[in-house]
Amino acid sequence: MMRVPKEGLIDLHVHLDGSLGFDLAQKLAASQGMEVISGEALRARMQVTENCRNLNDYLTKFDYPLSLMQTEEAVKTSVYELLKIQASQGLVYSEIRFAPQLHRQRGLTQRSVVAAAVGGLEKYRSETGAEGMAANLILCCMRGGDNRDENMETVSAAEEFFGRGVCGLDLAGAEALFPTGNFEDVFKLAGEKNIPFTIHAGEADGPESIWKALEFGAKRIGHGVRCLEDGELVRYLAENKIPLELCPTSNMNTKIFHHISEYPLLRLMDAGIRVTVNTDNMTVSGVTVREELQLMADTFGLGEQEIGQLLRNSADSAFLADADEKQRLKMKK
Ligand SMILES: [Zn+2]
Repeated sequence: MMRVPKEGLIDLHVHLDGSLGFDLAQKLAASQGMEVISGEALRARMQVTENCRNLNDYLTKFDYPLSLMQTEEAVKTSVYELLKIQASQGLVYSEIRFAPQLHRQRGLTQRSVVAAAVGGLEKYRSETGAEGMAANLILCCMRGGDNRDENMETVSAAEEFFGRGVCGLDLAGAEALFPTGNFEDVFKLAGEKNIPFTIHAGEADGPESIWKALEFGAKRIGHGVRCLEDGELVRYLAENKIPLELCPTSNMNTKIFHHISEYPLLRLMDAGIRVTVNTDNMTVSGVTVREELQLMADTFGLGEQEIGQLLRNSADSAFLADADEKQRLKMKK
């Protein structure tokens, strides 16, 4: 069996709140005078079980970690600790995403949340220098009915920190409840400010959600697996080299697929689509990027060449402005 390399890995789709480690959750609870939960009770709060029904059910696992990440110190520490964990797992680069508007329960502004996250990135960089992994932040706008102003503010925060830790924007949340088309003005503003963005689409909702994201100017699609329901869309994605950020275990958790053998990795690759393999939520789904790649290799009999292609796809799909930097990511492998 093919063994996925232990180095040179990249995660382009990983949520900060859904990847908060159990140990750090306990530390953050203790340091903030909150009830410290442990063992099975902690796991049940932060990780899905096989009984998870759908995306909306999956999203309830974010409430607890988010409640712990409502101070600048907690946000900064969460970013810093996640980078250390990713580096220990063989990652050379990651784009960590979070929604600044969800960190205002105790009075922080979106700007201060982003500044704190950038602080975590800088702390990691200053400690590790050129030896450490590279990383950037993606700011998520949120699907919802009455948060247009908050989403516009997220775009402004991305503009302020763009190139200084922030590399792009995203749209996250309950796709089936709040269709992509509702968020046109948010991404029009992002486009005007030349901030690249990805959009969660074609996961809980169908191909029209992906078409909308592309119409808005999305450079990548989060998940996007349901593009296969539309042949024209598949051809468009392949021809225009639009990367899909696949997160296989997460899609199993949310019951988009019921068995991993149904996962359409080979169909997407054979169609010539630039697919990348990512974790989505390291804690909620209980995965690492290497384990996800290994799962794909084991399930579909991938060889060294296919795994190499997936890793190159990730390097090519990074939201790095600098072409030299992308080249460097490939050289490291
Ligand atoms: Zn996601």
